[in-house]
Amino acid sequence: MFIALKTRKLQLRHPLVTAHGSTTHRNIIEITASEDGFQGHGEAAPLPGFGLETFDESLAALESWVKNPHRLPDAPAARSGANTAIENLEKASSSTTPASGKIAVQALIGSAESSSIESEVSRALEQGYLAIKLKVAATDKKTDIARIQRAIQLVGPHSALRLDANGGWSLEDALYVLSAIDSNHVDLVEEPTANPLDWKKVREVTGVKIGADEQLTNELQVHQLLEHAAAQTFVLKPSVIGGPSATRKVAELAQSNDVNVLISSFLDGPIALRSARDLAMELAPNEIHGLGTASLFIDEFPADVVPTNGFLHY
Ligand SMILES: [Mg+2]
Repeated sequence: MFIALKTRKLQLRHPLVTAHGSTTHRNIIEITASEDGFQGHGEAAPLPGFGLETFDESLAALESWVKNPHRLPDAPAARSGANTAIENLEKASSSTTPASGKIAVQALIGSAESSSIESEVSRALEQGYLAIKLKVAATDKKTDIARIQRAIQLVGPHSALRLDANGGWSLEDALYVLSAIDSNHVDLVEEPTANPLDWKKVREVTGVKIGADEQLTNELQVHQLLEHAAAQTFVLKPSVIGGPSATRKVAELAQSNDVNVLISSFLDGPIALRSARDLAMELAPNEIHGLGTASLFIDEFPADVVPTNGFLHY
């Protein structure tokens, strides 16, 4: 097997503000694995807040893998990208016909001043998104409440409203904000606090279902979440948790414990986004996934990973 690496930078249209900070662009390492005239692609692109390596560490890990392809990188983002490239190479050489169909995706709205809520939510609704996800917990509680309430009014019964705190609230904040809003109009809240032992209480007091995301980065944590019934939904990011095979494994565990599975982009580039979309189709074809992120970039993405009317068509 021959492996080639290429770095590229993707620019977000507007900075995306979350409880992990503000993201303005993505540095991405594109991986091409070749063998017997076939090619498979993968992508590695670390971001802070998910227990991943830095970009430089990721690149160094992949460069060692290039020299010794039998030893996969240990660094999680590099490993996810390497696994994706290998699986795609296997798919290409086994000449399996790619699936066709469509998958529902959500619109993503960053945490910023409440004035942009109106236009962003209205635009997402006009475009036909069946779910809208709002980043919260990056400003103060008052702003969070105002933004969420406005979003609830605008969304009405037309779409599902999801929240993502990225672990940015304390238990007290989470209870305060989620009790102050019309919580039966909220489909779920991802990572309300940084401590999953809080989540059961958040669910019990506010009635809002919990999604796990950042906490799913290692096997032990996955088992603990299931053991404590801490979340009703697992949001799986294949580009963080180890690529397609690792994602299948966690999805199977979740589904056998009656936990819903959503597949999510990590503000991925086109390659990781395409791979995540294929996994969404395979593992949870009827859910609304976190894969509507191509439209957040200035760079033009291939049409099969860009949402049209709230769906990826391929
Ligand atoms: Mg999340």
